[in-house]
Formats: sequence, structure tokens, C-alpha cells
Amino acid sequence: MARYTGSSCRLCRRENLKLFLKGDRCYGDKCAFERRPYAPGQHGQRRSGKVSDYQLQLREKQKVKRIYGVLERQFRRYYYRADKQKGITGTTLLILLESRLDNVVYRMGFASSRNQARQLIRHNHFSVNGKKVNIPSYQIKVGDVVEVKEDSRKVQSIMDSMETVVRRGIPSWIELDKENFRGTFKALPTREDLTMPVQEQLIVELYSK
Ligand code: SF4
Repeated sequence: MARYTGSSCRLCRRENLKLFLKGDRCYGDKCAFERRPYAPGQHGQRRSGKVSDYQLQLREKQKVKRIYGVLERQFRRYYYRADKQKGITGTTLLILLESRLDNVVYRMGFASSRNQARQLIRHNHFSVNGKKVNIPSYQIKVGDVVEVKEDSRKVQSIMDSMETVVRRGIPSWIELDKENFRGTFKALPTREDLTMPVQEQLIVELYSK
């Protein structure tokens, strides 16, 4: 399966925003964006001139893709799915991305980043409603219970993430039963719940051209 293998920090610097792609490192003073808050590359520190509408739309799309770790083809599929559903397409798009298993595992605090969540899921450490699921893009529904499998509860990276999750907190649409290594996807998040600085309308404008 295709995936991005370059530097994660470079992506934050490109988007001019902390995307929190590297777990603990993002909260410390080793964060590359804190040290060099300008675009990567030879001309990164140049002031950019007038930015076209297309560039704005493109950057917004890249930002959301990078936050959720989704590549172009899959992202486009999410957009078409969102477009077919009732409601505001941009909001539906974000909610579909929020309902991915890798994101839910990250939100529950079983992984310190979405990237790590993807890896743990592929290594068969989780079940959904009691059934083994090892597909990071698996779509979680309201009421689904995600659980760390019994023999995976001693995996160091899962234990470490559960210790440090207090730093970012558990979102209101998720209920965590820390003792039993399980969480419930209580409700779909609303647009107001999703606080990352994203203008999803620009993505809709880009794709509907
Ligand atoms: Fe982004 Fe985290 Fe790297 Fe900082 S440490 S630049 S937030 S991925």
C-alpha cells in the first residue's frame, strides 16, 4: 500500500502549522516547526507574494490530507462519498475522516500519533465490537467499541501513549474506559468539536471545479 515516507516535520513546515505527526516529539523543544517556523527548502524563508485562490485551495487540501495521513486517491474517494451524502460536504468530509479507525485509536489515546495508530492496527493489536480489525481506514460507527486485544495490553508504545494522552485530552465524542483498554465512539463529532484550523470549504471549491 502506498504511503508517504518522507520527513513528517517537513510537512508541518510546508503547511505552516503544527500537524502533530510525531507523537511526543511534537510537544517538546525538538519540534522542527518550533525551531524553524518557515517553509522547507532553499527558498523557504522568502516572503511569498500574492497567493492565488487555487494555491489556497490546494494548500488546504494538502493540510487535511496530511493531518489524517491519507493519500490523494483515497482522499478524493472520501470527498465523493461526502458529496453524495446529505448535509454540508466539507463537514461530512471531516467527519468521515474522523471516523477512520486509525484516527479513533489515536483520539482514544492508544497511540501517540495517527501514524503510530496505523502501524499498531496493522499489527493486529485492536478489535472492534469484539472482532479483530487490522485495516486502518475501517469506518467506525456510532456505538462501536474499540479495544486493545488482551495480549497486546503490555505493548510498550500503547502503555506510553495511554500515560501521555492527558496532554491532549480525550474528545467529548469518545468515552474511554482506561482500566479495560477500551473506548466507545459515542457520537459523531460536530464541526464545532473539530478545532483544528481548517477551511474545508476551500477543498470543496477545489474539487467541484
Ligand atoms: Fe510537526 Fe511534530 Fe515535527 Fe513538530 S515535531 S514539526 S509538530 S511533526
